[in-house]
This record gives sequence, C-alpha cells and structure tokens, in this order.
Amino acid sequence: MADSTIYLEMLKILPGRVRAGEPMKKHTSWRIGGLADVFVEPSDREELRLAVSYANERSVPLTVIGAGTNILVSDGGIRGVVIKVGGGLDRICLDENVIFAEAGAKLSRVAAVARDAGLGGFEFSAGIPGAIGGAVVMNAGANGASVGALVKEVLLLNMEGCFYKKIKEEMNFAYRSSALQSENSVVVEAVFSCYRRDKEAIKEEMEVFIKKRKETQPLHYPSAGSIFKNPPGDSAGRLIEAAGLKGERVGDAQISTLHANFIINLGEATARDVLALVDKARKSVFELFGVELKPEVKVVGY
Ligand SMILES: Cc1cc2nc3c(=O)[nH]c(=O)nc-3n(C[C@H](O)[C@H](O)[C@H](O)COP(=O)(O)OP(=O)(O)OC[C@H]3O[C@@H](n4cnc5c(N)ncnc54)[C@H](O)[C@@H]3O)c2cc1C
Repeated sequence: MADSTIYLEMLKILPGRVRAGEPMKKHTSWRIGGLADVFVEPSDREELRLAVSYANERSVPLTVIGAGTNILVSDGGIRGVVIKVGGGLDRICLDENVIFAEAGAKLSRVAAVARDAGLGGFEFSAGIPGAIGGAVVMNAGANGASVGALVKEVLLLNMEGCFYKKIKEEMNFAYRSSALQSENSVVVEAVFSCYRRDKEAIKEEMEVFIKKRKETQPLHYPSAGSIFKNPPGDSAGRLIEAAGLKGERVGDAQISTLHANFIINLGEATARDVLALVDKARKSVFELFGVELKPEVKVVGY
C-alpha cells in the first residue's frame, strides 16, 4: 500500500493528528533517525485505538514509541505507521497509595507527583527520562530498583483494538525486560502501588540520585542512556573502558569519555555510526574478556 494512501486514509480517521515523512530525529533523545512514512500522535485512548485498528486491518507495519529515549532509529527511517504515545495520554491520578498513570506521562512527572503526595517507591527513578509506557516495557530501573516492582496492573491495547489488563504476575518483569517485549500490545495505562513516606526523605534521596547522575553521565550530549545491559556481576561500562574504548569515535558518534556504556551524538551522528561503535565494543569485550554484551537499546526501522 502506498505511503500517500495510508497518509490520506489516516488523515480522514484522525484529522490533525497525522504527518507524512516525519523526521524521527525530532522524537529520539539521540537526535538520530530517518523519516517515518506516516506518524501519528493520538490525543486520547479512542484515537490510539483507531490508529492501531487501522494499521492492523490494512496490514500496515506498526511501530509504537514513547519518548524515544531508549531507541535507535535507523537512517533509512521507519516504514508504515509510527504511533507516538505522548502528551495526549498523560493523565496521572492518585487513590490513597495507588497511582494511575497513562502511558504517555513522563516517568519523572509520576515520580514528582508521588513525592509531593508523600508516596515512596519511585525515588530510584530520579533522572531516568522517558514515559511510563517505555518504562514498563523496558522495566526501567536504577539504584537497585525498577518500575516493575511497583506495578500492580497494566492496561493494554491489542492489535485488534481491544483493551485488556495484565496483572503484575503476568508481566514477567526481569532486568530491563518484560513480557511486553515479545508481544504486540500497546501500553495504555499502568497502576502502581506505593507506600507512605516522609516527603522530605523522598526529596533528599532523589536529589542524591540526580547528583550522582550529573557526576557520572554525559548528560550534556544527546544519548539513549546505557547501550548494553550489565552482564551478571559486572558492568558493561567497566568492560568497555577496560577494552580501551573510552573516547572511541566513528563519525560524530563517540563512546563517552565520562561513562563508557554511553554513546553520545557530537552533532551529526548517524545510526550507522552508532552501530559501528556498538559492534566494535561488543567484539573487543568478547575477544578480551569472553563476555557477550547484550544491547539494552532497541533498534527500530531499516
Ligand atoms: C540520559 C539517559 C539516561 C537513562 N538512564 C536510564 C536508567 O538509569 N535506567 C533505565 O532503565 N533506563 C535509562 N535510560 C533509558 C530510557 O530512559 C528508559 O528505558 C525509558 O524507560 C524508555 O522510555 P521511553 O518512553 O523513552 O521509551 P521508547 O524509547 O520510546 O521505547 C522503548 C521501547 O518501549 C516500547 N514502547 C514505548 N512506549 C510504548 C507503549 N506505550 N506501548 C508499547 N510499547 C511501547 C518501544 O516500542 C521500544 O521498544 C536512560 C536514557 C537516557 C537518554
């Protein structure tokens, strides 16, 4: 099916929410990526359902993204439809110790709402960018804790356009992983169980985590956070540094001199540059230490 037909048909279903040939570098924290054939940013759950159902009925390839802080979009872009779950679905509600957050709500906002309500649990996430949908899919974590531990249940949308729920036990949360990484469903909302804690204590702990990040991560450059998962009992950054690759550069992509598990964009880096560095780091670490590094970042598109 031609891109222009998909665009025109979607425009009729979701007027004002659809764009053709959208530069994905505008939607990724790395500022890298080619064009999405058709790009949709739904303003509510019903628009999300209509967009997903359209792609499914017409057998158009569908890619769902959140804030784009853990994806590498290829230079050739993304075929079919890209749905960004963002500002249109970002409501956050509280009911005693329980927080309901739509998938497009920023994790940092949810953590701030929890803090201001005197609810503990999200402190660990201070400084992790991205939205709730991505955080649940990736089981985002830091400082010895992760989002999955707080999840009570998740509201999902399947490709046929039906909403359904999964409880925590069905989510198979593990280190930077969840059942959703191998399923074709869209996160619509997550429900989190928190606990009462002194607001000042929460604030202080979050400030400590933010300070640590500022000291150890190259936050002034575009990146997608950690490239590789940490292998059991070790850290990917330590291994890449020990392989002598800090500062290694391909085009405008560079292995950070501050944190070797970050690849930063010095200006005009391409996905190809980043992948060349990823390959180099993987090969060097395997040859020198026999450790196979597994990517944390998801590669999207061609
Ligand atoms: C500076 C920096 C620091 C970081 N530090 C950390 C850290 O400490 N710990 C950590 O875990 N991560 C970290 N990250 C990575 C990233 O912020 C997290 O993984 C984040 O949770 C991803 O959320 P997102 O909305 O950006 O997801 P995206 O990058 O948009 O997507 C990630 C994956 O989730 C899928 N997805 C997104 N939204 C939905 C949805 N609604 N429904 C279905 N699938 C969806 C996408 O298809 C993709 O596979 C860091 C990134 C940066 C740039």
